[in-house]
Amino acid sequence: MRRAALLVALALLVAILLRERRALAANFVGVSEFEREGGVYFAPSIDIAKRVALRTQLADARRRVAAFYGPLRAKPTIIAADAGSRARFMTGSTGETQYRPGDAVMVLAPAGHNVDVLAHELAHAELLQRLGYLRMTWCVPTWFDEGLAVYFDQRPFYRAAAYAARRRAGARPPPLLSLDDRQAFFAGSRDELRFRYASARHAIEQWLAHTSPSAATRWIDTLRCDRASQRELARIAELLD
Ligand SMILES: [Zn+2]
Repeated sequence: MRRAALLVALALLVAILLRERRALAANFVGVSEFEREGGVYFAPSIDIAKRVALRTQLADARRRVAAFYGPLRAKPTIIAADAGSRARFMTGSTGETQYRPGDAVMVLAPAGHNVDVLAHELAHAELLQRLGYLRMTWCVPTWFDEGLAVYFDQRPFYRAAAYAARRRAGARPPPLLSLDDRQAFFAGSRDELRFRYASARHAIEQWLAHTSPSAATRWIDTLRCDRASQRELARIAELLD
């Protein structure tokens, strides 16, 4: 009996480690072969020119997000992976931000070395920094977190013109209120996901068209799980046309 319990515990541990192995790899990047330079952990194969380019893009991305928030408070751990090491840290193919209780970890694949992806991921890190891990995890719906991140991301398939073209073609915007959790938001095809991003961004744009950045950031800073915050989130989600 005790042996069976031990086996179950072991199986559980293995399952958790398998699921969390990317977060674990990111946690231990400081003792890996990655080289720390200017606050970024670079895969050794990334050459000097690419490192310099990434740091310039990072400065541009910071300026883009700071134009909304003011001076950024987040100091995420940044990992610049190469094609060979990407899968160790992330499931996607461009950029991903992992949330930890103390800070965020931004992981960048080679295709994510550009200002749009960097600004998007920095926006996630900044929201986490302002709200803290518990409020971020429990009170912020995924559509809002992604909508606000993609607001700083100018890739064409997320922009207002792409949203408008879909609407003209007869596509109905997804009900954002049903996209609170990550699983629901990220389900489906790449095409569906892009429309979801564009829709979430459109709702944020509509909100910010009538709210100054300072009023918006003041509200974001006080966002909680309480009724008033959730009512305002529901109002923003309904701004799709
Ligand atoms: Zn995102």
